[in-house]
Amino acid sequence: MTLLGAASDKNVPLEARRRRTFAVISHPDAGKSTLTEALLLHARAITTAGATHGKAGRRGTVSDWMAMEQARGISVTSAAIQFEYHDAVINLVDTPGHADFSEDTFRVLSAVDAAVMLVDASKGLEPQTMKLFEVCKQRGLPVITVINKWDRPGATALDLMDEIKDRTGLLPTPLTWPVGIAGDLRGVLDRREDDFVRFVRTSNTTAAPEERVSAAEAAIEQGDAWSVAAEESDLLHAEHQDHDEALFLDGQTTPVLFCAAVLNFGVQQLLDTLVEFAPSAEARLDVVGDPRPVTSSFSGFVFKVQSGMNANHRDHVAFVRVCSGVFHRGMVVTHSTTGRPFATKYAQQLFGRERTVVDQAWPGDIVGLVNASALRVGDSLFDGDPVEFPPMPLFSPEHFRVVRPQDTSKHKQFRRGIDQLDHEGVIQVMRSELRGDQAPVLGAVGPMQFEVVEERMTHDFNAAIRFEELPYQLARRTDRDSAEVLNRARQVEVLTRSDGTLLALFSTPWRLAALVRENPELVLHDLATAV
Ligand code: GDP
Repeated sequence: MTLLGAASDKNVPLEARRRRTFAVISHPDAGKSTLTEALLLHARAITTAGATHGKAGRRGTVSDWMAMEQARGISVTSAAIQFEYHDAVINLVDTPGHADFSEDTFRVLSAVDAAVMLVDASKGLEPQTMKLFEVCKQRGLPVITVINKWDRPGATALDLMDEIKDRTGLLPTPLTWPVGIAGDLRGVLDRREDDFVRFVRTSNTTAAPEERVSAAEAAIEQGDAWSVAAEESDLLHAEHQDHDEALFLDGQTTPVLFCAAVLNFGVQQLLDTLVEFAPSAEARLDVVGDPRPVTSSFSGFVFKVQSGMNANHRDHVAFVRVCSGVFHRGMVVTHSTTGRPFATKYAQQLFGRERTVVDQAWPGDIVGLVNASALRVGDSLFDGDPVEFPPMPLFSPEHFRVVRPQDTSKHKQFRRGIDQLDHEGVIQVMRSELRGDQAPVLGAVGPMQFEVVEERMTHDFNAAIRFEELPYQLARRTDRDSAEVLNRARQVEVLTRSDGTLLALFSTPWRLAALVRENPELVLHDLATAV
């Protein structure tokens, strides 16, 4: 380690404390892209909304880069954006919106310290919102809830609070409370300051500073709307729905804010809330459950691998969450899976299509390592003290297809492409002697993953493919002895996944139940299921 490195190590506690690493999660269309952009605008990271747009026909996101995403208007890939806000350094990690990519979402949520759950005021908790709440709960992630689109008619604020309480089990503790019903956005009552933040209409390309007035002035200015808000806020207080930091960090309560992202309202309060309440980068548990303090030597883990992000360069980027120590570009770290050295010469931060070189990174930061084809999702990297972080779960696939090259002479490209997509965690790849190497079976949690495979194989690997659907619906982990029995049965097939796991695929739950009845000695384990 250089002298410079040794000196900066001293700054680790301070730098880790400044970090707020979070993801925004929501049902599609709740306004995630709009909010992301508004956050950046407020933090002055970009000066004009629209600079990062790309979605066909409507406002786009900073993370759109695949043609397919644009056509579908969904965000499949993830990027991380860093910006400073006051004294804090905010790392916003993007998550795919569609349920078919729940494995990706799960991985991103393993790399952040908090989640912002965005809820559309008129729709309340939607299916994907519920699933994501569940993932956060499993991961013990603190959740800040943001009710968006308050400028449009919707449910009452009290009903929304009841819905959150009843359906997620989290007690909502609003930090702000709307003055005026949904659709009549006047501003919010700041429940901690006991004053009024007025809604000021601005063009959506400027982030206006907040306008605050005292409760007494607000009462005169807003009349009944203010007294209703104040009464409701008292009611919440009587029900103990006030922010409690310990309960929030423990995953029992969720602070709530009301906003209209498209009008840039409430966005500053969200940033302030993140800085004040969201956890900073802290010790992470390793694979055996021991905490790795942020002050240890450098360590991190790969939570996302992506290639073809830049159409001009067929590159391969591994996104690493820094867990401890200082990352210096160019340092040689150890790849814990292989024990081999890994040189980090090309380290970047990715912001949509823009990239900047990262020279240093601290706990909580996300670093994109370019040309990192040796790195797989879940791999750990370290310098000095060895560490291995917990592996990423592979979810139970529910859709299965045989994949073959359209042009058999392209066998090499085909093999390389499938292996690469497997590496990236785009799809699960299974093989059997019976089917041979030219016809692996792909397993997906959601069918849209197959579309990504098709697109990537054609455009990134120049190996167009064809699929053959298989009639299986569920998979179980099995062992060699059981595999022999199962291979003799009908409507079941045993394959080996690339991680070495033997997977038995069944056509229906009834078929599985019948086989278990006939052969009680069979060893069949559930796999992690996508929630
Ligand atoms: P995403 O799919 O969650 O990324 O959602 P988008 O950010 O693309 O937003 C979906 C739609 O909701 C777009 O038409 C936005 O302009 C609109 N939208 C987002 N935030 C607000 C808001 O605060 N108020 C209103 N009225 N519309 C909004």
